[in-house]
Amino acid sequence: MASNGVLDARERSATLSRLATERFDVLVIGGGITGAGAALDAASRGLRVALVEARDLASGTSSRSSKLIHGGLRYLEQRDFKLVYEALRERDLLVSKLAPHLVKPVSFLYPLYKKVVERPYVGAGLVLYDAMEGTRRPVPHHRHLTARGALRLAPALSPERLAGAMRYYDAQVDDARYTLTVARTAAAHSAVVATRVSAVSVMRGPDGVRVTGARVRDEETGRSFDVSAETVVVCAGVWTDLVHELAGVRAGYRVRMSKGVHIVVPRSAVNADTGMILRTDKSVLFFIPWGERWIVGTTDTDFTGDRAEPAATQEDVDYLLAAANRVLVRPLLRADVIAVYAGLRPLVEAVGEVNGSKGANGSKGAKGAKPTTKVSREHVVDVPVPGLASIAGGKFTTYRLMARDVVDAAVADFDREVPSSVTEQLPLLGADGLVGVRAGAGRLAEDCRVSRAAVEHLIDRYGTLAGEVLDLIRADPGLAQPLADGYPYLRAEVAYAVTHEDALHVDDVLMRRMRLFIESADSGTGVAAEVALIMGRLLGWSRRRRAAETRRYLEAIAAEQTRPAAGASAVAAGVAVAGMAAADAVLAGVAAAG
Ligand SMILES: Cc1cc2nc3c(=O)[nH]c(=O)nc-3n(C[C@H](O)[C@H](O)[C@H](O)COP(=O)(O)OP(=O)(O)OC[C@H]3O[C@@H](n4cnc5c(N)ncnc54)[C@H](O)[C@@H]3O)c2cc1C
Repeated sequence: MASNGVLDARERSATLSRLATERFDVLVIGGGITGAGAALDAASRGLRVALVEARDLASGTSSRSSKLIHGGLRYLEQRDFKLVYEALRERDLLVSKLAPHLVKPVSFLYPLYKKVVERPYVGAGLVLYDAMEGTRRPVPHHRHLTARGALRLAPALSPERLAGAMRYYDAQVDDARYTLTVARTAAAHSAVVATRVSAVSVMRGPDGVRVTGARVRDEETGRSFDVSAETVVVCAGVWTDLVHELAGVRAGYRVRMSKGVHIVVPRSAVNADTGMILRTDKSVLFFIPWGERWIVGTTDTDFTGDRAEPAATQEDVDYLLAAANRVLVRPLLRADVIAVYAGLRPLVEAVGEVNGSKGANGSKGAKGAKPTTKVSREHVVDVPVPGLASIAGGKFTTYRLMARDVVDAAVADFDREVPSSVTEQLPLLGADGLVGVRAGAGRLAEDCRVSRAAVEHLIDRYGTLAGEVLDLIRADPGLAQPLADGYPYLRAEVAYAVTHEDALHVDDVLMRRMRLFIESADSGTGVAAEVALIMGRLLGWSRRRRAAETRRYLEAIAAEQTRPAAGASAVAAGVAVAGMAAADAVLAGVAAAG
C-alpha cells in the first residue's frame, strides 16, 4: 500500500532499523536521479525496495547539471536519432503529465551567422526535432526569425554578422528538487530511502556467487550492518567503477568522467527575454534563464580528480566567458560571476561483453579515446553476476527509461512474474490536481496570511504539496518570514526540508532543497546560522551542535570556493574572496554566540 511519501529526518533511526531487519526484493545503491528513478520504478511494480545514498539525495551529478529536460539538438548532428527521439518523448511526458509542477517549457534562440548555409541546415534539424515529438505538443513549434526579430527578443546579441535566428522550445527543471521528488514518490510506494548510508561491500549467497544484499555503513555514526535483498541495482553514476570493485565484479563497461562547468550571472548582465544556444568550436553554449539569474555553460573535458568535489579551473571559467562574449554587445565581466559550479558526466565505454538488456555504445577504451563531446549519451545496463544489475550513462531527461531498463534486467531471473514498468502512467508527488491548486492560490494566501507571490513560489516548487508547507506556517506564523533578503525562500521551507525531505545537515538545505549555493553571491553563508537554528529546533541540536553544523557548511563552501582560485582565476578568486569573507564574518558570529 502507498504510504504518504514523507521523508522525515527525525525518523532516521526507524528507517535504518527497517533497512537492517526487513528483507527487500531490490536494494538500490545511489540516490541520484537514476537511483531514485529505479527505486520508484521497482516500488511502483509492487516490489519491496530499499535505496541507500552515501551522502545526500542528488549530491552527485544530479544537482550539478544544466537543468534542461531536452532532446539535445546537438545529438542530431551526431546522428544519435534514437536518443533524441526518446528524450523528446520523455520531455513531453514530464511537462504534460508526470511533473508539470517541476518541468517547465523554456524557449531558446539559436542565432545564425552564415546567411546561406546555416538557416537550411539548422532549420532542417529543428523540423526533424519538432517532428520527432509527434502530434501531442506541450511545447510550441520552432520559428524562423530575421536578425531584427532576434534582436527584439535578445538585445544583448551583437548585431554584427547576425543573419537571423531560430527560436525553439525545450524544458527546464530544478534537478535536485526533481530527484528528491522522485525519491519521495518512491517512498509513497513504500520504498525505504536512507541517506548518508554507503554500500561498502556486497553479500553473496551459499553458492558464493549470487549477490544477496550489501553491507552498508551509516556515515553519521560509523555503524555497519547488512541489508538483505534478492537483487542489488547499482546506480552510482561516476562512482560505478568503484562500486563494481567493492562488489568484486567485472562489468562489461566502465565509466569515463567528463567535467562540465557552469557560471551563474545576474539576469541584468544579459538583456534577453529568451534562453539562447550558441555553437562553439567543440560543442554548444547555453544561456539558461534561472529566476533572476542566467546559468551559462557548459564545458566538456575529461576528468580524473576527486569525484566528490569536482572543481572548476581558471581555464574553464575563461573559456565560458570568452565563448559568451563572442556574441554579446556588452561583454560578461569577471565581476558579473556570482557562482561557479562543476559536475561530472558519467559517460560509458565498453570494455568487454555486456550481459544485460542494452549494449554499450561501442566506443573505444580511454587510450586514443574520442573527445568526451563525441561519446554517446546512451545508457548501458549490465548484469555482471546473478543478483546484481548496474547502469550508467544516459541523461537526466531519460532517467525514467533508464530506471525501467535496469529494473527489467534486475528482476529477469526472479522465480515469479514481476509486472512491467508503470511509471509512464504515474505522476510524481505534487502533480495531481495542480490546476486546482494554482487556481486557488489567492484563497490559500488569504487563509494563511501570506502574500500571493509567496504561495505561487511554493506551488512552483512543491506543486500540490505546497499545502504541507503552508500547514507549517499555520502552526507557526513566524515561519512565513523570508529566509534571506532578496530571495523568495521562506523559513518554513527549511523546516519542511527536515520534516518531509530528509535534510540532515545545513548543506542539504542550502545546496539542494534550496539553491542559494548557486544563486547568492555569498553561497548562502549569511543565512547558514539561521538555517541551523530552524533545523536544530526540529532535530534537537544543542547550541554547540548548531555552531558545529554552521561551521561545517561554511568550511565546505570555503573549500569549494578556494579551489578554483588555486588555478589563479581572477573570476573564481573574486567569487572565493566574497564567499570566504562572508563565511569568516559568520564564523566569528558563531564563535561569539557559541
Ligand atoms: C555539466 C553537466 C550538465 C548536464 N546537463 C544535463 C541536462 O541539461 N539535461 C540532461 O538530461 N542531462 C544532463 N546532464 C547529465 C545528467 O546530469 C546525468 O546523466 C545524471 O544526473 C546522472 O545521474 P546518476 O543518478 O546516474 O548519477 P549521480 O547523480 O552522480 O548519482 C550517483 C549517486 O550514487 C551515490 N553513491 C556512490 N557510491 C555509493 C555507495 N557506495 N553507496 C551509496 N551511494 C553511493 C553518490 O553519492 C551519488 O549521489 C548533465 C551532466 C553534467 C555533468
